[in-house]
Amino acid sequence: MDDNRFDALIIGAGFSGLYMLHELRRLGLRTCVLEKAHDIGGTWLFNRYPGARCDIESIEYSYSFSDEIQQEWVWTETMPAQPEIEAYLHFVAEKLDLRRDIRLHTDIAAMTFDEEASEWVLRAASGETFVAPYVVAASGILSVPVEPDFQGVDTFAGASLYSSRWPAVGFDLTRKRVGVIGTGSTGVQMIPVIAEQAAHLTVFQRSPAFTLPWRVREFAPGELDELKAQYPDIRAAQREHPVGAARLSAFSVLINMLARPPIKTATADDKAEAVEKGVMGALDWGDIFFDIDANRMATELYGQAIARIVTDAETAAALVPTHPFGCKRPIIDQGYYETFNRANVGLVDLRKGVITEVTPTGIATEQGFHELDVIVYATGFDAMTGALSRIDVRGRDGVLLRDYWATEGPVSYLGLAVAGFPNLFIVQGPGSPSAATNFVAALEQHVEWIAACLKHLHDSGNRTIEALPEAQREWVEHATSIVAATVLAHPSCNSWYNGANVPGKKRMYMGYTAGIPEYRRRCDEIATAGYTGFALS
Ligand code: NAP
Repeated sequence: MDDNRFDALIIGAGFSGLYMLHELRRLGLRTCVLEKAHDIGGTWLFNRYPGARCDIESIEYSYSFSDEIQQEWVWTETMPAQPEIEAYLHFVAEKLDLRRDIRLHTDIAAMTFDEEASEWVLRAASGETFVAPYVVAASGILSVPVEPDFQGVDTFAGASLYSSRWPAVGFDLTRKRVGVIGTGSTGVQMIPVIAEQAAHLTVFQRSPAFTLPWRVREFAPGELDELKAQYPDIRAAQREHPVGAARLSAFSVLINMLARPPIKTATADDKAEAVEKGVMGALDWGDIFFDIDANRMATELYGQAIARIVTDAETAAALVPTHPFGCKRPIIDQGYYETFNRANVGLVDLRKGVITEVTPTGIATEQGFHELDVIVYATGFDAMTGALSRIDVRGRDGVLLRDYWATEGPVSYLGLAVAGFPNLFIVQGPGSPSAATNFVAALEQHVEWIAACLKHLHDSGNRTIEALPEAQREWVEHATSIVAATVLAHPSCNSWYNGANVPGKKRMYMGYTAGIPEYRRRCDEIATAGYTGFALS
């Protein structure tokens, strides 16, 4: 038992858990990372589907805390593909000698706060237990997939593939009739790639995506070295940017739009010129985040821009979104709309008739039957709260976190802690900036804040820290009030951002949208003032 007693335990060995381990070791704490998978990497271990890559530039979607790491690691492309990010995390783990404190194949099933001892007791699925006063949940915000339970889903005789547990050895799609369900970031990324491999691809689309074309390219010779020489400036700019990525990314495109002229006063010529520029130009207006009518006007132009790319008029019309632009996470793509001009690609608009059944030979919809050899599910995640909800997390008085969130909604204080669950820190919990930012920039701030907090507890002779219900309520109200004036709060906005993608999940916008610098300022202010909003004992 003593071997499994630690100063702090970390759940998850992805980007967050690896850095958390490094930070806690630097404090001299005896720490262990518990990881359910066979290897480190988190998101970037599991999501190895065709075309998987990050939509933020590699030099920004990477740790900034170590100049040695950022100077030594060599990115080959402007936006990194999954294998390269996975390899990067392996490099970091070797470099910092992290693996000796990581327990793989350790799936935490339950954790209970022992109020008398003021410590957490964690039980793995194997029955093994671990004890520590503090737990950091670095279990990922998009790590629990939503897998639809269509009637007959298990009867399919072909291959059923899931984007977030794609076979490690890959899957040969050549000469196969493939169906892809889902057109979020994942679907939009894989569809052009699968179309090139498969004999035929049928895309089953429930909600059309807003997606912006992007050209990912390899770095030119010497280009990365030049960027590395500018790292102090690049990181400083990132730190001050609301989304934690100052160079061009889907997020910064959105931020830049805020400074553009409004569509509402645009002339017919202005609009024609916007459509001429393509789907990106069609949306490039300053008022569309705050004015739903302006948003709809821009969507109309977006539809016109699609119609200039997609040759079949019915398909082009089916690709036009009906939800407001900006209320789902921005997507970038490489040749998405062009893919629908291929002879081997078909689109099924599920708004005209839903999937009724999966049979041994394919998918039946209210509109007809599609024979398939492979079905690919790119149907999203139970985001932000999913990973901790699948664990029996019991806080004070035996309250289950999943029940608490089911009743109260996905509440937290600062997205870092939940009232009634002492000494449990969440990296990128609901109510933190994570959802609408560069995750790596956001997690670095969280990890550093948590490490400083643990040092403060030690130095001040405290053992327990707990969010106060009143502070939590005020934080939720504050975070909610920021989105209230935007299209994000519109009833037609259904996404993982507000839990609408998971049947039965209490609807609440789960991000903090004032940006990372403002969030950091508030977190630092709270820490400097002696952790206001928390009870320390
Ligand atoms: P997602 O954005 O939630 O998209 C899931 C898709 O599946 C949606 O089109 C959804 O339709 C559809 N769907 C779900 N259940 C369905 C059902 N029963 N029948 C038909 N369609 C169904 O999930 P995601 O694409 O995996 O992306 C999640 C997040 O992961 C992204 O927002 C992003 O943060 C991250 N990600 C990032 C990258 C990148 O960096 N480029 C790539 C992939 C993922 P509805 O919209 O109608 O619900």
